[in-house]
Amino acid sequence: MSGGWSGSNRRAELPPNWYTDIRPRVLARDEYRCRNRTGGRVCGRWANQVDHIGDKNDHRPEMLQALCAQCHGHKSSAQGNAARWALAARRDRPAERHPGLL
Ligand SMILES: [Zn+2]
Repeated sequence: MSGGWSGSNRRAELPPNWYTDIRPRVLARDEYRCRNRTGGRVCGRWANQVDHIGDKNDHRPEMLQALCAQCHGHKSSAQGNAARWALAARRDRPAERHPGLL
């Protein structure tokens, strides 16, 4: 028997009622409009995605928001870029002095 919680990786596990209950409820609450703010303005486009504001495992309605596909994509790629920048910064660190050069 597979399935259930064991054996799966720990990232972003959605509760069983995510698609049947939580997700539609958040979309309805936000009136299917994207809540993403850019420069103080709410996007307001038609939303069909639900985003975790805080922790990926925090599924409380107040910690969820409706997003349009575009903003959701931006947000995901921004996180990807941030990770890439962090990697680059680490690579730019000055090289350690070789211990044999004394
Ligand atoms: Zn949007």
